[in-house]
Amino acid sequence: MTNSDGDFLHELHHPDVPVPEAVRSVVTVTSFGKLMDAIYNWGRRNSVWPMFLGLACCAIEMIATASSRFDQARFGMELLRASPRQADLMIASGTVTKKMIVPIVRLYNQMSEPKYVLAMGACAIGGGPFKEGYSVVSGLDKYIPVDIYVPGCPPTPQALLYGFLMLHKKIDGQSLGNRNSVPWYSRTPGEDVPVPVLGPDIIDPRQAYLLRRATTTASEAHASA
Ligand code: SF4
Repeated sequence: MTNSDGDFLHELHHPDVPVPEAVRSVVTVTSFGKLMDAIYNWGRRNSVWPMFLGLACCAIEMIATASSRFDQARFGMELLRASPRQADLMIASGTVTKKMIVPIVRLYNQMSEPKYVLAMGACAIGGGPFKEGYSVVSGLDKYIPVDIYVPGCPPTPQALLYGFLMLHKKIDGQSLGNRNSVPWYSRTPGEDVPVPVLGPDIIDPRQAYLLRRATTTASEAHASA
């Protein structure tokens, strides 16, 4: 289930219960919860379906990762999905412009839970070489939660594969026994991320109160002048 069944059994082993060294590769003693988490996460991490979201030059490296030389199908990822409803991993590969962040947030809201976001490249992480540009968002995580950051300009396919392994590690750390780490099983449905508004500049609705306060202060100052 990991590198080998022996490693998998070793990870499950309860430290307080001694098992003879000679049979450790075939016998383990563990708790029911730990076993359930291991099976649940094993199934999820080996069937992550990524969404095809090529935004700029980094997308070429992402496409190369899907090709036969690197072969992301080894991780159960197979095709890059063209629909957010069939995907649970958003690979944001490239420059995120103010115009594009609007559909990106909308696509994120349409993805099925549990869902993850991987920011690929300096642009998606923080704006990259265009950080000071008038049209570029300085970081995808200002709008949607990002789980994995793969730095580089562009990152190589190997770096993206390493990002997938880090995502597996994150999934392995989630437990059915801890509701905070599996919020998609809460009794009430999660809230959508507010879709930014594209105007003269991009507006994040979550910060509307700041804009309101700034404009109110400015108009009061103008009236009293
Ligand atoms: S990080 Fe570099 S390679 Fe990737 S989209 Fe930005 S400029 Fe292009």
